[in-house]
Amino acid sequence: MSTIVKTEAVVLRSIDFKETSKIVTFYTRQFGKIAGMVKGARRPKSRFGTSLNPMSYVSLIIYKKEGREIQIVSQCDLIKPFRHLSEDIEKMAVGMAMIELVNIVTPEHAENAQLFLLLVNSLSSLNHAVKNPSNLLFYFEIHLARVLGFQPVLDHCVTCKKELKKINDDATYRFDIAKGGLACKRCSTAPG
Ligand SMILES: [Zn+2]
Repeated sequence: MSTIVKTEAVVLRSIDFKETSKIVTFYTRQFGKIAGMVKGARRPKSRFGTSLNPMSYVSLIIYKKEGREIQIVSQCDLIKPFRHLSEDIEKMAVGMAMIELVNIVTPEHAENAQLFLLLVNSLSSLNHAVKNPSNLLFYFEIHLARVLGFQPVLDHCVTCKKELKKINDDATYRFDIAKGGLACKRCSTAPG
């Protein structure tokens, strides 16, 4: 049995399917990332208009069924058009990088309202930005790491746990990406 649900979403990706349909990846406020089938989306005079373009901020109605990989989209309407994102090439590049990052780092069906709000607010700020839109990408990346629970360890070694300022090894630290923080010189050069 499927239920009819309504949620806000940002369009991450949109691909053509069969003759007239599209399969669209949405980042939703309530359900995290989901894929939806939009039947008839590519018909001339489709009622979906530009709402299925990447970076669109939309109100979505879906027939949602647990365990179904691709949900059925019944309605998709623009909440607020971010017009400048499609008119300004630099803004478009930054906005596309933001949604691509979200697409890459999020698993399906993992709700994260903070991430949703960060994405909507960042696209909105980008839309209104008057200069240096690329600075917003840096801001977005830092906050994305935070809302995903990635807080780099900077005060002690991620391996031996010693406080970094107390280790006397000429203060040479390396960033250990796998462990998510700084490692002291001894640990970062030790074999294995
Ligand atoms: Zn160490």
